[in-house]
Amino acid sequence: MSKYDVVVAGGGISGLTFAFEAALAGRSVLVLESAEKAGGCLSTHHGPGGYWFELGAHTCYNSYVGFTQLVDACGLRGEVLQRAKTRLRFLDGDRLVPGSNLAVMLRLFSWPEAAISLPRMLGAKKSGKTVQQFYGSIVGKRNYVNVLGPMLSAVPSQSADAFPAGMLFKIRDTRRKEFPRSFTLRGGLQSVTDALARQSGVEVRTGRSAVSLSANGSGFTIVTDDGERHEAGVFAVATPPSAAAAVLGTAAAELTAQVSRVKDTVVQTLAFAVRASKVNLPVSMFLVPREDTFHSAVTRDSVPDAEWRSFSFHFRPGQTQAERLARVTKLLSLKSADLEELTEKQTVLPSPVLGHEAIVQEIDRLSAGRRLCVLGNWFAGLSIEDCVDRSRSEWTRVAAIG
Ligand SMILES: Cc1cc2nc3c(=O)[nH]c(=O)nc-3n(C[C@H](O)[C@H](O)[C@H](O)COP(=O)(O)OP(=O)(O)OC[C@H]3O[C@@H](n4cnc5c(N)ncnc54)[C@H](O)[C@@H]3O)c2cc1C
Repeated sequence: MSKYDVVVAGGGISGLTFAFEAALAGRSVLVLESAEKAGGCLSTHHGPGGYWFELGAHTCYNSYVGFTQLVDACGLRGEVLQRAKTRLRFLDGDRLVPGSNLAVMLRLFSWPEAAISLPRMLGAKKSGKTVQQFYGSIVGKRNYVNVLGPMLSAVPSQSADAFPAGMLFKIRDTRRKEFPRSFTLRGGLQSVTDALARQSGVEVRTGRSAVSLSANGSGFTIVTDDGERHEAGVFAVATPPSAAAAVLGTAAAELTAQVSRVKDTVVQTLAFAVRASKVNLPVSMFLVPREDTFHSAVTRDSVPDAEWRSFSFHFRPGQTQAERLARVTKLLSLKSADLEELTEKQTVLPSPVLGHEAIVQEIDRLSAGRRLCVLGNWFAGLSIEDCVDRSRSEWTRVAAIG
């Protein structure tokens, strides 16, 4: 049995931000992470010769005030790199539709339908509507299904149709102009979670899943899949919703009931490097297929390399690896042998639907006054910054309890 002030289940940006804040306040912190490395959706694959590519998140913005503060606190400001502009390219089967970003929409939209629908934008309210209902009413139902829906689903790497409309995009008013508008780090975004995990006072154990929780006097006992027991005064769960519900279990039955109402889904990422000379496609692309077995693909040319290019394809669940490989090689006109540093990663992502806000309010009500926190990318929103916001505000809440 080991004792810590704080135990965190889940070593993604949410869990590590919480751990960092707790350690900064002088607490001893243990982070339990099921995967072999911490970082979660911040997952940078390093190949030989220093070339790297992202399996998950790739872009941060200077409007991510909390995240940029973490970058500074970890001493990583000098590692920040401006990203080259990435262009959205629409795929119709194997064909790249000419034009990018707005030009693609102009080319693919049915304008008679849009002309009837666009005036509805005035005064349109997101509240109580799904993404499909809200945006479909603005651009027209067919334009949504054929063009806008696939674009919006490419962003969260899953169908966004049933998401609450208010959850997808956020306008952040403050920008830290000393950071590039859109940036990554010299060694990829995982440099940040790696640095958070190295902070003094934070101990990270990888390859360990939290499996159960029990209340113990004024604190908690957390049991891991290898049977180890850890005691803590504060417990935070920063995993996808299904795993969070399993860990919270009967020790926090009412919270578990609310967390269980949030569904999640799986995205299967296949990524690889390829010699630049073998690919005959434009650089810096965010590929959006109209209807395909994958939701989106991104290239790493936003940090250009003379020798290598790389692609990360985010597939829907239900494909075999052979099917994923066949799709990618056909689309890019490559042979399997051309794909180097081939890497796969399965990620569990929350799938919020209408009524999500009420669930979050209920979780917050049930957590009030307790040293128990539920964190993740399904509270403030889906982005890295939303995770940082949630973790910091939960640490502030718990620290105030004393
Ligand atoms: C493909 C992709 C691209 C993205 N691109 C961007 C982007 O460009 N910009 C942006 O801002 N956001 C982006 N996002 C969103 C953002 O990266 C995520 O929302 C955020 O990183 C999630 O962090 P998290 O810590 O909440 O969850 P996760 O990163 O999912 O971390 C949860 C961790 O919990 C671990 N875990 C699960 N169960 C247990 C258990 N029982 N015990 C212990 N550990 C457990 C998991 O292994 C995982 O490491 C992207 C997401 C994806 C998937």
